[in-house]
Amino acid sequence: DYSLTEADPEVRSIIDKEKERQFKSLELIASENFTSRAVMEAVGSCLTNKYSEGLPGKRYYGGNEYIDELETLCQQRALAAFQVDGKKWGVNVQPLSGSPANFEVYTAILKPHDRIMGLDLPHGGHLSHGFMTPKRRVSGTSIYFESMPYRLDESTGIVDYNMLEKTAILFRPKLIIAGASAYPRDFDYSRMRKIADAVGAFLMMDMAHISGLVAASVVADPFEYCDIVTTTTHKSLRGPRGGMIFFKKDPVLGVDLESAINNAVFPGLQGGPHNHTIGGLAVCLKHAQSPEFKAYQNQVVSNCRALASRLIELGYKLVSGGSDNHLVLVDLRPLGIDGARAEKILDLASITLNKNSVPGDKSALVPGGIRIGSPAMSTRGFTEKEFVAVADFIHEGVQITLEAKKLVTGSKLQDFMKFVAAPDFYLMDKVSD
Ligand code: PLP
Repeated sequence: DYSLTEADPEVRSIIDKEKERQFKSLELIASENFTSRAVMEAVGSCLTNKYSEGLPGKRYYGGNEYIDELETLCQQRALAAFQVDGKKWGVNVQPLSGSPANFEVYTAILKPHDRIMGLDLPHGGHLSHGFMTPKRRVSGTSIYFESMPYRLDESTGIVDYNMLEKTAILFRPKLIIAGASAYPRDFDYSRMRKIADAVGAFLMMDMAHISGLVAASVVADPFEYCDIVTTTTHKSLRGPRGGMIFFKKDPVLGVDLESAINNAVFPGLQGGPHNHTIGGLAVCLKHAQSPEFKAYQNQVVSNCRALASRLIELGYKLVSGGSDNHLVLVDLRPLGIDGARAEKILDLASITLNKNSVPGDKSALVPGGIRIGSPAMSTRGFTEKEFVAVADFIHEGVQITLEAKKLVTGSKLQDFMKFVAAPDFYLMDKVSD
């Protein structure tokens, strides 16, 4: 029984380097966070050794007395953390991550080739909501289901609900998906509910990015209007990497969501749950009910507002003109540079954020913006004042990117830059997560 340092110095050293990178850089990726030591202890525990296919009390393996206790506790805490009534809602805490959770929902309630509508990826949606290009069905969701994404109103940067309604009436989707990876505003769930009802569709919210904000009630409550709510557990919620699916207990459109979703998770798409993750998630969900967690989420939002205001002061154009949540999307096209180059230059200065497409980009392949999130650095104790300084650092990085562009223009390096900007480079590198 050796320690990691003794058993494998190579992996130990990689982990040490990554730890140093995480702690030395300004971590501004909107989907990342620093989870607690307590969560990491649970994730690194003996829970990883156990097989427990099935649900508490109904397992396909022996020896699950304590795992049953753990998963039941995790489920109860999940319902309590999101203040949902356990008589009306159930939850499955086994999804291995956000994309599997979404696919499990589709498997539960759709037949192959049924129609779905989610926010288009170049407009802030997630791959797993049905992304496809005119040439290629990129995501499994668009391979197995017929996807007609809805989009933002490019003049406002807000979801074009009127167009969603018109298209839904023509397209007749079976499922409408709210939620995004790069959308700085709240969704209008009540409007989406009306549209879903008008066409007989299920309404699902993928709250992966904002689940911490939802738990702390600092953004609108998707549970009020949706039939199903999915989430990752490692973004603003600040837990281990994983996923959850919440479902209404009463049948919706004639479907018993509870058994359909539980069966889609196992045996539909997964085998044994990752009990170490469920352990870490239970710890995270206990914390999510504390006053400190609520204060943290309030800080996330107000830090993001401070960042947005400073960027606007510095002359930047923000998609939708600001932010109501944990992220801002900066449109760099008015400056004549793209997000990929800004991301690379900022990376050299240990400022970690990501390039992101912005509405109006000619294609999803050349992202014109950057996405900046406040959850991780808020965990590190940053307040509004530090986020104003962060905006100034980013501004400096953008100025350097502009200088670099000037130097490169007309030089031999320009050919190289063209190579870097080849569409496949961006596609391989994915647009956002
Ligand atoms: N849903 C949304 C809205 C996301 O932003 C993401 C990931 O970033 C996911 C789902 C997928 O989560 P995972 O990467 O855990 O599969």
